[in-house]
Amino acid sequence: MGTSPSSVAENVAAVQERVERAAARAGRKAADVTIVGVSKTFPAERIREAFELGIRHFGENRVQEWESKAPVVEDLAATWHLVGHLQRNKAARAIRLFHVIDSLDTLPLAEKLSHAAGEGRRLPLLIEVRLDPGVTKTGCDPTELSRLVEGVLLMPRLELRGLMTVPEMTADPQEARPVFRRLREMRDAVSRQHHCQLPELSMGMSRDFEIAIEEGATQIRIGTALFGARHPR
Ligand SMILES: *Cc1c(COP(=O)(O)O)cnc(C)c1O
Repeated sequence: MGTSPSSVAENVAAVQERVERAAARAGRKAADVTIVGVSKTFPAERIREAFELGIRHFGENRVQEWESKAPVVEDLAATWHLVGHLQRNKAARAIRLFHVIDSLDTLPLAEKLSHAAGEGRRLPLLIEVRLDPGVTKTGCDPTELSRLVEGVLLMPRLELRGLMTVPEMTADPQEARPVFRRLREMRDAVSRQHHCQLPELSMGMSRDFEIAIEEGATQIRIGTALFGARHPR
């Protein structure tokens, strides 16, 4: 998995094939799984190549990095996701350039986003849930999820679409399976409780996306398997 244009083509084809097979195993349609290409650390030209190969959703994890790359690809009809942690003081900058926030984790951040979204906008977002004790930094605590959902549903400028999670990096990717399953069960429970549709489950990365698809992922966030290994910043 290198980063030259030709290998992006090979990588896209390989990931699409693996998605097809995992979906078939789970009795699902590959078309119901959206590949979000996570392009952090890679130049915007790689995004353009992946777009030309059919990838339509892209994720970045830092507002500042995306501010420098977005102008290069602003002509593309793609959906740009923020997949990394968002600080409250960057909320307004973030929603100028991202279409979807995948990592909402607190009510104060939701309030900031709602305010910054302004009149007439409906900002799609996912709540990131912290399900693994080893992942301590970001995400809403499961015990806080119901309250956060309830609060977001009261904000007409925010459109809550589902849940997202990042499991702990363990030696065996299969250890993520119960985490993915739990996210799906939490989605089912919280949407029943609050009488809302939460169709999206963003879970699974390069090492474990097939397991995530088997557990119901509708969006998988793929960096390395599409763009190659990242170099330290
Ligand atoms: C970097 C990143 C990814 C992609 O990780 P890979 O293992 O390279 O596929 C997915 N989700 C988030 C939140 C990330 O920061």
